[in-house]
Amino acid sequence: MKRLRIAIAGLTACSGCQLTLLNCEAELPQLLEKVEFHFFPMACSPAILQGAYDAALVEGCLSMPHEHELLLALRDTCRYLIAVGTCAAWGGVAALKNGEDRELLRQQVYGESRVAGETSAPRPLHAVVKVDAVICGCPPEKGELLTLIAGLLRGALPTPISYPVCTECRMRENLCLLTERSMLCLGPLTLGGCNARCPSLGVPCEGCRGPAAEDNLAEAMEIYLQKGYDSHAVGERLQRFCPGWKP
Ligand code: SF4
Ligand code: SF4
Repeated sequence: MKRLRIAIAGLTACSGCQLTLLNCEAELPQLLEKVEFHFFPMACSPAILQGAYDAALVEGCLSMPHEHELLLALRDTCRYLIAVGTCAAWGGVAALKNGEDRELLRQQVYGESRVAGETSAPRPLHAVVKVDAVICGCPPEKGELLTLIAGLLRGALPTPISYPVCTECRMRENLCLLTERSMLCLGPLTLGGCNARCPSLGVPCEGCRGPAAEDNLAEAMEIYLQKGYDSHAVGERLQRFCPGWKP
């Protein structure tokens, strides 16, 4: 059986999504029987785009000219282009300061050095190319990446999730941190798929998977207000992972 040809690229990001795949040590030997990773600069060299790919998994957002070129080249050579992680899907933490003056930010971080080269306000992949599927998360769950690749082996894209973290939190029968502990938990607004990882440990959801299609914003805001949080506080938290996500 012909092995699946996959390219894995990292744009502006922390590389955590790529690392999550590399951390699948138990599954990687079996995976490599069915998949060829031809372009994966973080894991193998030389990293040269060669021929057509069945899929490109792209981590990170766009903030530098060479990233645009790479993304366009991947789009041209792959059947499916998949945004992996919240930076690729929404801009993520790299886009946290998009509303501020970039030159001032550059000086605050690098001083007079031009080491960072030319940069622009970080943008998600869909701002520039057609994206065939999105796997959210900062980083995504291991299981989601493995399910994605298993689906690609059958020529299928993942079924998008639309429900919020609260759905999975209720299924796990957790104590509700928002209603019972008055903590600012973003579970009602955030896309599920992490099996309520944080609330299950007593930590409020920080919204790292971005907005859920099935959120109930009006009802959630009513509860946040009852608990003493205003829309500014909620908005600030939401926008850490997704600029433009407003309560
Ligand atoms: S703890 Fe958070 S995620 Fe869980 S049900 Fe309450 S609001 Fe939703
Ligand atoms: S509970 Fe929220 S912050 Fe935690 S992993 Fe899930 S989406 Fe991210």
